[in-house]
Amino acid sequence: MADGANEFDFVLDNLFFKNIDGLEFQKGDVKAQLTVIKSALVSEFIFKFDGIIKVPCDRCLDEMELPVSTKGKLFVKLGAEYSEESDDTVIIPKEEGTINIAWFLYEFIALAIPVKHVHPAGKCNKTVSSKLKKHMAQSDEEGDLYVLSDDEDESVVANQESETDPRWDELKKLIDNN
Ligand SMILES: [Zn+2]
Repeated sequence: MADGANEFDFVLDNLFFKNIDGLEFQKGDVKAQLTVIKSALVSEFIFKFDGIIKVPCDRCLDEMELPVSTKGKLFVKLGAEYSEESDDTVIIPKEEGTINIAWFLYEFIALAIPVKHVHPAGKCNKTVSSKLKKHMAQSDEEGDLYVLSDDEDESVVANQESETDPRWDELKKLIDNN
């Protein structure tokens, strides 16, 4: 690799993520662009990611697509043996001069996953969400107060709409008698 900026493009696919075997996600289709600014002391690795990954939905646990658009930066120094100096700085053995970036690619993307991620409204797995609704309906019925007030409302409406209310019939009779 020459000194200065070097650009690399990768496509991270399902197989790539399956081989990484990470906890957060194992499927995706992400374009990765890596720019390496190489220098004698410390090289700068600049990552850019664009694509989608597949994660379990927080609400129904079904797989959902999550768009990914993120960046990352890593500083790489040469030293005696491999070590991670800090979150964004690694030291690689001078003699080998190589670095396996696969895990870093995965980690940068995993860091971009929002804490809460769910399907858009109405797109969750119906089996699970209808079970949830049924459960909620049952809890509502257990509240006696609601059931009583509902019944009262219905009977009031029924009286107002009835055209053959017996009380009016009695009044008509009285009028007719006059
Ligand atoms: Zn869902």
